[in-house]
Amino acid sequence: SSRLLLHSLLKCSKLIACVHFYVFLRNKGFIPSNYVTEKNKIEANSWYCKNITRTEAEQLLRQEDKEGGFVVRESSKKGVYTVSVYTKTLSVHGEIRHYQIKITDTEQFYLAEKHVFSSIPDVIHYHEHNAAGLVTRLRYAVGSMGKCVPATAGFSSEKWEINPNELTFMKELGCGQFGVVKLGKWRGQHKVAIKAIRDGAMYEEDFIEEAKVMTRLCHPKLVQLYGVCFKQRPLLIIAEFLENGCLLNFLRQKGRALKEAWLLSMCQDVCEGMEYLEAHSFLHRDLAARNCLVDEHNVVKVSDFGMTRYVLDNQYTSSNGAKFPVKWSPPEVLHYSKYSSKSDVWSFGVLMWEIHSEGQTPFENRSNLEVVNDITKGVRLYRPHRASPQLHSIMYRCWHEKPQGRPTFSELLEEIRKLAENQE
Ligand code: ADP
Ligand code: MG
Repeated sequence: SSRLLLHSLLKCSKLIACVHFYVFLRNKGFIPSNYVTEKNKIEANSWYCKNITRTEAEQLLRQEDKEGGFVVRESSKKGVYTVSVYTKTLSVHGEIRHYQIKITDTEQFYLAEKHVFSSIPDVIHYHEHNAAGLVTRLRYAVGSMGKCVPATAGFSSEKWEINPNELTFMKELGCGQFGVVKLGKWRGQHKVAIKAIRDGAMYEEDFIEEAKVMTRLCHPKLVQLYGVCFKQRPLLIIAEFLENGCLLNFLRQKGRALKEAWLLSMCQDVCEGMEYLEAHSFLHRDLAARNCLVDEHNVVKVSDFGMTRYVLDNQYTSSNGAKFPVKWSPPEVLHYSKYSSKSDVWSFGVLMWEIHSEGQTPFENRSNLEVVNDITKGVRLYRPHRASPQLHSIMYRCWHEKPQGRPTFSELLEEIRKLAENQE
């Protein structure tokens, strides 16, 4: 029972972490996806905007300015949902239409009377492919991509440029592939991590362009990219600051003190962040414990997603380079550089292994070349000492030789949640 108590305390601290996040967002937008129940599965969708008004929905859609852009929000009348759609087919300035989702006597849902479904996500899914009476089909879910932290925390969401004069530097946090990382403050208030890019370490122009997209990836389990100071050198990258630093060091220092239930919940954190990236077709390409960070409540968030594409260092980017993450890579990446969400899934399996071995190096005594040979022959990592056989079998399925044989992050999340429930 003391374990139970501890577990619920830990859960509680996670809740606090999320509440903290809520505050940061000025109560707009998110519900942490680990609290999504069957009943309100609607909230797990990227098109869903909780607590936004009609006016805010209109602002959001105009800002996005995408034909067929849409959000689903709860109407002022509780329990009633409205779809707001943006279209430029009626006038060049763009118009917004609001449609209430109707409910039949038998608790079925519809927007067009002829097309009735048993759930709201089914209704939306149908209209993503068929206008069926709407001004346009629902082409582009604005949802969580649009209602980002930067906008609400006072960072501009339109511009991903940050004014360097509004930054102050506090102390050095560490040093990585791109250069020194410092703790700082933005407008004297918000703690932020500031990466100063070392000269010659990055394809800067390409990154600056991509940063526009990356600042709009928002999820409680992703380290938020706030923006970039790009009119100066060194280039500065401004991101969410996480108190407990890199996950790998954290595991090595504190791993022993963490209960199995917490190790599993760390895997769940990462899986939630990755499910979001998968849903937005964004590849991480270098998922590993060294690229995750830990916040003050020991919640894990995924960092450095997509960043390897901008590394200017052959030793790191070429699959036979000394710094290439061979031990985290599936056969199709090692042999053909074929990246996909399924190659991220492989890396996630290795990351679960790292978590449950308290930060050991996978294939510790093997060289990269030996690992390539072993993996190709079908050799896989053994069960780490802190993992149950059930968990090892989940990891193992991430290491299926063929990408299509591996589960998706969304499937993995479901399994990890089930495992967590059974542990309680
Ligand atoms: P790079 O991606 O350039 O290789 P890292 O992201 O690994 O650099 O950063 C180097 C170190 O700086 C990390 O190991 C970590 O200790 C620290 N660090 C980086 N980003 C943050 C952050 N957002 N919050 C707290 N510490 C950070
Ligand atoms: Mg890194």
